[in-house]
Amino acid sequence: MHLIIMGAPGAGKGTYAEGISKYYGIPHISTGEIFRDAISKETPMGILAKMYIDKGQLVPDDVANAIVEERIKQEDCQKGFLFDGFPRTLNQAIEFEKVLEKIGKQLDAAINIDVPEEVIIERIVHRRICTKCGKSFNVVTLPPKQENICDDCGAELYQRDDDNYETIRKRLDVYYDLTMPLIDFYKSLNKLVNIDGVGKKEEVTKLIIDSLEAL
Ligand SMILES: [Zn+2]
Repeated sequence: MHLIIMGAPGAGKGTYAEGISKYYGIPHISTGEIFRDAISKETPMGILAKMYIDKGQLVPDDVANAIVEERIKQEDCQKGFLFDGFPRTLNQAIEFEKVLEKIGKQLDAAINIDVPEEVIIERIVHRRICTKCGKSFNVVTLPPKQENICDDCGAELYQRDDDNYETIRKRLDVYYDLTMPLIDFYKSLNKLVNIDGVGKKEEVTKLIIDSLEAL
């Protein structure tokens, strides 16, 4: 299975990606991770990417794509892959199709985790994180047994500075601006698998796998 997964911040993409990658025995590849990896291994593209990152600039599409290409040629991608956080722009998506074609592979599906904005905002505003182990809670949907105390380790919970309405609103606007063209692109290729992401973790994961199996 050759897959990508998209979803707004707070849509639960990472959690579902884990379930899918386990089910199909394919690596869950987060872009941030492969960038850091290419940089630490000082591959030619990694060195180039670092120059941009150090200057506080975005890594250009051609460099990002070259890093992705290096990654999918690795042994563990023989059975497929699940990209998370890539492609991020329409241009990257178009180039990605060319990269896959070049190596004789084809994307099977672009999964989009669809969660209404109000739900995402609620989730993030109500999120509390453990100061010690990092476990996250939700004061409404997943409250800790004891107020403001982590169930697992007993440490205090806190709210991240950027988990406020204004910041989330801005992040979502940026996300939708970039992603809407991607969704249309994959729809036009008949590869879009749109998933209603409101529900229990197990239910949504099952829904995704059932939809992929039905392709
Ligand atoms: Zn904890």
